[in-house]
Amino acid sequence: MSEPPVPPRSAIALGLTAAAAQGRLELQVCEACGAVQYPPREACHRCLSSRLQWRPQAGAGELISQTILHHSHEAFFREHLPWRLGMVHLDCGPTVIAHLHGGVPPAPCRVRITAALDRAGQGVLIALAQGDGSQGDDSQGASMTADENLRELTAPAEHPKVALVTGGSSGIGAATCRAFLAAGYQVVCLAREPFESPAARVHSVEIDLSDAAATREAAAELARRFPITTVVHNAGAIREKPIEEVTLEDLAALTNLHVATAISLVQSALPAMQERRYGRIVLVASRAVLGLARRTVYSATKAALLGLTRTWALELGGHGITVNAIAPGPIEATRMFHELIPADSPKLARIVASIPVGRLGRPEDVARAVMFLAAPEAGFITGQTLYVCGGTSVGSIAY
Ligand SMILES: [Zn+2]
Repeated sequence: MSEPPVPPRSAIALGLTAAAAQGRLELQVCEACGAVQYPPREACHRCLSSRLQWRPQAGAGELISQTILHHSHEAFFREHLPWRLGMVHLDCGPTVIAHLHGGVPPAPCRVRITAALDRAGQGVLIALAQGDGSQGDDSQGASMTADENLRELTAPAEHPKVALVTGGSSGIGAATCRAFLAAGYQVVCLAREPFESPAARVHSVEIDLSDAAATREAAAELARRFPITTVVHNAGAIREKPIEEVTLEDLAALTNLHVATAISLVQSALPAMQERRYGRIVLVASRAVLGLARRTVYSATKAALLGLTRTWALELGGHGITVNAIAPGPIEATRMFHELIPADSPKLARIVASIPVGRLGRPEDVARAVMFLAAPEAGFITGQTLYVCGGTSVGSIAY
């Protein structure tokens, strides 16, 4: 069966989805004038204040009109036609368009709007029949399953498809974000710059991950908002230096970026993973863990990720959570690589000549390995390090 479509929405609409994930209808309420907003927006429709807060709503309202879809460009709806949609004027102010449950009589009538997640993990509004309040809400859960179309629309995917990716704004991280999007995931990206994408399923958080306190706070906040069951820690920095010049500040910064970030992200996401008995953690290390000149702090802190991988594999395997590492070799088209090795330098030619497969890696080569280890089907692989390095972990490399 096909997935329901993901309508184009701004990232701000994720507030609706975050509440729907917890079974609540929330709409933005203006703190200045009290107006309830729909659709989600940046500024109050009445007074233009930007102080809009997501607040739970009772959802009672009047179905004022309905329409029946007989055609759709979307495969999911095509398979489920005809599909009833209605316009509901909520008692709290706004008018919304909602899917109509089969038990809702023809307009006009009283309904109650609820929010649920569709199969793609997007919040959707559903109107349920509502007597004069006498019917109560007890029947709603049961009646939802009685409507076959809505049951299929809102049946949770086997696992929440929400992936958190660090360093997703460029290079390997961006390729990984694109791969998750293509696989139907919502993507939460933590990086110094946003992951540029027109997709509504992207939520970018701009952050300096070498700031351990800020990272910890952001991780906790994201875990409250999203059922994160897939974590890919890819962000990295090199600080290339000979041992004589390495400072303890280098060590602290890369320990925060590579190691502390991994710990904070995984600790925050663990409750959601344990609750669902499912999780995928992929830590992006480096081929440099095998040794590479002028990479003291980089190789040490990336090697630490292999220790985390093997330790967490033992601790978390019983919860259905796998933990694996990927160790990329030289990957072109990444800022990290080309800042050190200019694209037309003799040094680059030497490196390529030393790579057994005869070329540099591409970000997509690494993203493919991430998706393999992050797949629900990869549940029997844990504690492993997969070198995606063109063979450079086997022999020597002429840096
Ligand atoms: Zn207002």
